[in-house]
Amino acid sequence: MLSVAKIYNNYPIIFRNCQRQGSGMPCIYIDVMPGWLPLVSELCAALEQVAHAQMADGVTEAELPSVRTIKTKFCQLRCNISGRNIDHFIERYADRAQHICEQCSSDINTKIMERNGTYRLLCEPCGLEFRGGP
Ligand SMILES: [Zn+2]
Repeated sequence: MLSVAKIYNNYPIIFRNCQRQGSGMPCIYIDVMPGWLPLVSELCAALEQVAHAQMADGVTEAELPSVRTIKTKFCQLRCNISGRNIDHFIERYADRAQHICEQCSSDINTKIMERNGTYRLLCEPCGLEFRGGP
């Protein structure tokens, strides 16, 4: 089962600044619904690979990709990640997120649903559940 903690552990370079925060504050670097975690994990894997390649090329630690936040805002994937030559990765994953159910990762017939002022990008079955049945 994919969890946020597992993603942090799997990609130690891009989350290196997460460890340093300390002071008992919870990590809030990744804040998305469960359906998007596989996509976020893929993005982090791609960035970690970029970081490895850049390290081999002599890029200094301060310039390697570093995740500040990955979160959902208005049903879109918003990433705040520092680093060189990574914007095209981030855009590609943000585009893909626009078709993926935030609850179950399905990419079939997803659309934005609303309940009591909360908006979610959901597939039809998850949408029915979200709205409280048919
Ligand atoms: Zn779904």
